Amino acid sequence: MFINGRPHGPVKGTTTCQLHMRSFKDGDTIVVEPWRAKAFPVVKDLVVDRSAFDRVIASGGFISVNAGNAQDANNIPIPKPDADKAFDVAACIGCGACVATCKNSSAMLFVSAKVSQLALLPQGRVEATARVKEMVAQMDKEGFGNCSNTGACEIECPKGISLESIARMNREFYVANITE
Ligand code: SF4
Repeated sequence: MFINGRPHGPVKGTTTCQLHMRSFKDGDTIVVEPWRAKAFPVVKDLVVDRSAFDRVIASGGFISVNAGNAQDANNIPIPKPDADKAFDVAACIGCGACVATCKNSSAMLFVSAKVSQLALLPQGRVEATARVKEMVAQMDKEGFGNCSNTGACEIECPKGISLESIARMNREFYVANITE
């Protein structure tokens, strides 16, 4: 929710559920509002329907190749910087703050995190081309706006997802469209 005009409230890197009342002064007025975005219709009070995110994930945010069991996965060497980057974007919790704070209601930060966490790993590369096309198409179908690089999403994201992931998704999308 928005708390005093900021998604998840005034403390950086903190979700609403981790925000303590000690972050406010005694007697403060606290204004709470639901996310406001066309793709997140308000159900009631502070509750919004974020199932658009679920449909974006269902369109391609998974791997369907047989990656074996944990032991097999450990036999595939992954450069440490790639593993670290994949882990960083995998921290996205799908809260929707990026959409709610964006003046365009863009879901690019969320979708790019979900595209990137798989595209950075060898197990995810197999379906990377189809994945990015499907997920971007579903994102557009859900009515999210486009990205105009204001960077509000990165500032308000409680998990520190970087704009770099949007750049990565744009590259993935571009390459997917010129190679297929
Ligand atoms: S990118 Fe950040 S703000 Fe957007 S859904 Fe993921 S965790 Fe929430």
